[in-house]
Parts: sequence; C-alpha cells; structure tokens
Amino acid sequence: MKRACVSVDLDGLQHYARIHGLGEAALDARTRGLHLTLALPRLLALFAVQGLKATFFVVGEDVRGEGAEVLHRAVQAGHELASHSHTHPYALARASASFVEEELARAEEALKAVSGVHPEGFRAPGYTLSSTLLGALVRRGYRYDASVFPAVPYYLAKAAVLGGMGLLGRSSASSLDSPAVLLAPRQPYAPDVHQPYRRGTAPLWELPMAVTRRLRVPFFGTLVTSAPAWAVRGAYRGVVRDDFLSLELHAVDVLDAADGITKALVRRQRDLGVARALKERRLAEVLSWLARDFTLCTLGEAARGLTPASR
Ligand SMILES: [Zn+2]
Repeated sequence: MKRACVSVDLDGLQHYARIHGLGEAALDARTRGLHLTLALPRLLALFAVQGLKATFFVVGEDVRGEGAEVLHRAVQAGHELASHSHTHPYALARASASFVEEELARAEEALKAVSGVHPEGFRAPGYTLSSTLLGALVRRGYRYDASVFPAVPYYLAKAAVLGGMGLLGRSSASSLDSPAVLLAPRQPYAPDVHQPYRRGTAPLWELPMAVTRRLRVPFFGTLVTSAPAWAVRGAYRGVVRDDFLSLELHAVDVLDAADGITKALVRRQRDLGVARALKERRLAEVLSWLARDFTLCTLGEAARGLTPASR
C-alpha cells in the first residue's frame, strides 16, 4: 500500500529569529505563540477538508496556556503529537548524552500531559542526527525518527547561507549536517545507531522527508507554498511513484505579514512575505493530489504498518 504522511514542525517564530541572527528579544510574547494560537487552528481546518490525520512535531516547552488547549483539540481530532525536543536546541546533535536525555524526557512529559500517551516519534531541530541522539531514542522506546532530510539543494542552500553569515560576522543558531545525509536512503529504513544515515539494525524506523528520485529536490511545504506552480508539479512527479511519501510543513506555511509579525523577520524569512491565502490554496491542492494517489496516515501509523521484512 502506498502511504503518504503529512507532518508539521510547530516551530515558534523565535527559532526563525535565531536562525537569522535577530535574537529572540526581537519578538514579543504574542508573536512567539502564533505558531500554536493562529497557525495550528488554520492547519486543523485545512486538514479537515481532506479528512487528513497529520503528525505535529511539538516543542515541549510550548505546551502551556492557550497553545496547550489547541494541541488538545488536535489530539481529539485524531492527529498525532510527536516530539520536536523540549527547547528546540539546534546543536542537539552535538550535545552530551545527559543533555539529550533531559531534552527527550521533558518533552515526553509535556506531550503526555496533553495527549495522554508517550510520543512514538521524534524529529530533531534542524534535522541533524547523531549516534548519541539515535541511541537515546532507541533506549526510550521510540517507534520512529523522522529527522532525515536527504535533500541536495536544501543542503547546499543552507551551506551557502551559513557560509555567507560567517563572512558577514553574524552568528546563526543553525548548524550544518554531515554530508553523509545526502546519501541516506529516500525511503523508510532501519538505521545503524552508529551511523544514522546508513541502513543498520536499530529497532526503530527512520522515515525520511520526501525528496525527488534523481536530483533529490525537497518536496516540502516551502516548495509547495513559494515555488512556481510548474516546479511544484515537477517535484511531485519525482516523488509520486514512491511507496512512502512524507510531506513536511511548518507553522509559517500558514502565516504571513498580515499576522502582525515584526518586519525585520518578514524581510529575512521570505516565505512570510507570500500571502497566506495563496499558500493555503497551494497546500490544499497538493493535499488533494496526495489523497488521490496515496493512502493518508500519520507517521506513527506508517511506522506501525512497516514490517521487519521491509527493512
Ligand atoms: Zn524545528
């Protein structure tokens, strides 16, 4: 059975401010909560049209107040909550074992409080894995990891941006992954705990984000909302024949400048400058393609449907 999963990284705008070297102080408390108070209800409405059950990767420390209420609504509507760490540290893949354990444990506690269950899945901040991190996921009983993004243009663009910022003397919170990720399998695999981007025998599934067959162009939210329509159709042709497709979205895919986001951030994060109505139309169209060509399910359901024989 061909399965497609839609997941959303619920990243607060302060993490974008950090990537762009703006400093978290550039954003007020309201703006820091928009990914849950404004973007999440919009996403729930968008997904309800296709009857789509999605996976939301949640930053543990965000589970409070109004944000926790909206997350609870998502759970009641049948969506999956998975862990995106507790504080979204971009350097998690370089962190010590004890720091990693604490990030995972605190996020699990926060997610359990709102969903009632231990999360089954994890996605690393900035998509970067390490053997320490993967080993901790295995020990803590995760069924899957969804951090691998084996996309060549994404890797090159990130390298260029970080290189440019280095030349300008600005510091970014983001960090560059090992080039080994570019050779990682495009379809679900059991990873090697010591080399997470290679096949091995770890008792959990790696569920990579969609990239096209030949050129490894990422088929993800930013492309869907911001690239020319012909490029979106072309990239889809490069993934539609796969048995497994993981479409990754972000909260910013349904936010725009009209939501009262500070101009300095809109200038730097260019997809915030694209009108929300246009982005939502694009997303709705792609979701209808997925519903036509695949069976839609959460990442947790996809991982449960995989058998050891498909390793
Ligand atoms: Zn993130």
